[in-house]
Amino acid sequence: VFGDQIEFINTGVVEGEKNYPDLEKFECVKIKEEQKTLPVYGYKDELLNAVRDHQVLVIVGETGCGKTTQIPQYLHEAGYTKVGKIGCTQPRRVAAMSVAARVSKEMGVKLGHEVGYSIRFEDCTSEKTSIKYMTDGMLLREFLGEPDLCSYSVIMLDEAHERTVTTDILFGLVKDVARFRPDLKLLISSATLDAEKFSDYFDSAPIFKIPGRPYEVKIHSTKAPEANYLDAAIVSALQIHVKEPPGDILMFLTGQEEIETVEEILKHRTRGLGTKIDELIICPIYANLPTHLQNKIFEPTPEGARKVVLATNIAETSLTIQGIKYVIDPGFVKIKSYNPRTGVESLLVKPISKASANQRAGRSGRTGPGKCYRLYTAYNYQELEDNTVPEIQRTNLANVVLTLKCLGIQDLLNFDFMDPPPSESLLKALELLYALGALNKHGELTKVGRRMAEFPLDPMLSKMIVASEKYRCSEEIITIAAMLSIGNSIFYRPKDKQVLADNARVRFSEGNVGDHIALLNVYNEWKSYDYGSMWCYENFVQFKSMKRARDIRDQLKGLLERVEIEVTSNLNDLDAIKKAITAGFFPHSAKLQKDGSYRTIKHPQIAYLHPSSSLAQIHPQPRWVVFHELVLTTKEYMRQVIELKPEWLIEIAPHFYKKKDVEDSDTKRMPQGKGLSAFS
Ligand code: ADP
Ligand code: MG
Repeated sequence: VFGDQIEFINTGVVEGEKNYPDLEKFECVKIKEEQKTLPVYGYKDELLNAVRDHQVLVIVGETGCGKTTQIPQYLHEAGYTKVGKIGCTQPRRVAAMSVAARVSKEMGVKLGHEVGYSIRFEDCTSEKTSIKYMTDGMLLREFLGEPDLCSYSVIMLDEAHERTVTTDILFGLVKDVARFRPDLKLLISSATLDAEKFSDYFDSAPIFKIPGRPYEVKIHSTKAPEANYLDAAIVSALQIHVKEPPGDILMFLTGQEEIETVEEILKHRTRGLGTKIDELIICPIYANLPTHLQNKIFEPTPEGARKVVLATNIAETSLTIQGIKYVIDPGFVKIKSYNPRTGVESLLVKPISKASANQRAGRSGRTGPGKCYRLYTAYNYQELEDNTVPEIQRTNLANVVLTLKCLGIQDLLNFDFMDPPPSESLLKALELLYALGALNKHGELTKVGRRMAEFPLDPMLSKMIVASEKYRCSEEIITIAAMLSIGNSIFYRPKDKQVLADNARVRFSEGNVGDHIALLNVYNEWKSYDYGSMWCYENFVQFKSMKRARDIRDQLKGLLERVEIEVTSNLNDLDAIKKAITAGFFPHSAKLQKDGSYRTIKHPQIAYLHPSSSLAQIHPQPRWVVFHELVLTTKEYMRQVIELKPEWLIEIAPHFYKKKDVEDSDTKRMPQGKGLSAFS
């Protein structure tokens, strides 16, 4: 049917079992044609020459021009993978997976073979892998085992403009490796045009510009600020759907919750529009979306229908979706912020930068003229910051500092940072690591610190695991750590069965054992039902999340063996388990105030029990608690909380807490004489 083209393509590598060989071949032809239309294609030879002639190259090109998917393939064809792998880093997990899947398809190979990806807790690579997409965090961890990156011939630090803290640290590390490995090629790629900064940092490395051919984007701004941007976004989407010519819509939202809300409302309202209106296909995309649903955004929109993609910032530059003609930009992003004084990190919804606003608008003009609807005024736009502050200046650095110490980098103040972090953040990180026992008072790594660094977790979690050795409860603690790593997607609460769901959930925290122990109970009961899906269904627990927890747990168990911590169970001694938790999280302990709020003991900060915490339901409220994290919504909430005995703090962290910190001055003590003492 497709004539000569198929004959031509037939020479390509196509392996694996194929049900529809003709269709597959057709796809293959289509993909090869598509590859040739990408802006980067015309610069292939020039690019390869530049890589040959220079060790470090800064590459700049519009989002969607083919940097991430094509350049590693060009280098592979040119023979760079004969001597080592090509590693390409992505700041986002979903991007690493999705791009690897796309490239394996383009090359006609099975994902995980020649092309693979590596993200935390998931390694989809094999010995054959020569193009490896990975999160920047995974490359940083690889430095621990392979400080000269000798298995790589090319490192591509992609999405450099995102300036994640990990990518920033990698800049310094790879720059150093490149000095003693002249054979290693370094590519720094970015979607924004201010690449001079990268070039300057890498000793005036040449900049390779891939000219894009973006189409004109017409920008509409609102006349007055929108009081409710979600509502405005929904109305805009429906108006576009009803009035505008064909073309898909991309809406930028701040997170999973917002996306789910908008999805629900859109579904409801389009149903109300009746059958005269074309179908509106709603595709959410965010980091925690199950993998099989992530691919939906890339499926071509059927004739006569329109797609609306509800995305977090992931669609700003990391993922390119075909067919977008309309962008709805409410102008907000969820961003990490850190207070070095209190050591508290929170996620806050903040206005985006001008650079972000321009990137977002650009997503509508990739394949034809587009329109961008800004739900803010032209004046608001002028008021935005030019660029987003690099993450390194607004994050907790404990994790990074521990990794750098493990790499033998002692003098952090003189590390070659592109933009240095505030010195208070560095000091705070050192202080925390010292408190956790990972560093000694000279700032040198201890045995505890070395063991902690083996776990791909935040230092407080890894300390909790290392401490479980002493309390002989490593079995339980790795379960808790795995469950905590899943985030809040363990339980679900369908709108029509909320009471049933809540009752099911309450059972796990019977005896006011606290949230960590409740998570442990969930896991253990699921295990006793053979890790079944039916049990999950009956208990309003998400099976997918549990499977992931089990997977993470298996990996943590492997790491326990590696650091030679015996796997022991101490399920009957809940205090021992709680003490192990406290050994990692003692800086997060708080005391009840008269008004029902809590105050953290060191560096006072007011916080409340999160309504989802099992301890929020009990009266009287527990006096002393230790919490996993703080989240800021309408106020500061503690999420995942257990009760603790104040004397534990002195027992576990005598260097951190003094007697006076944990005195229970305003408690009415049990009267002496009669009462309990009569039994002693
Ligand atoms: P860049 O990295 O320069 O932003 P990419 O290499 O990511 O560009 O994208 C190049 C092209 O590949 C784009 O046209 C994009 O739409 C397409 N593409 C990328 N990933 C997928 C996918 N999973 N499915 C379909 N097309 C994809
Ligand atoms: Mg890219």
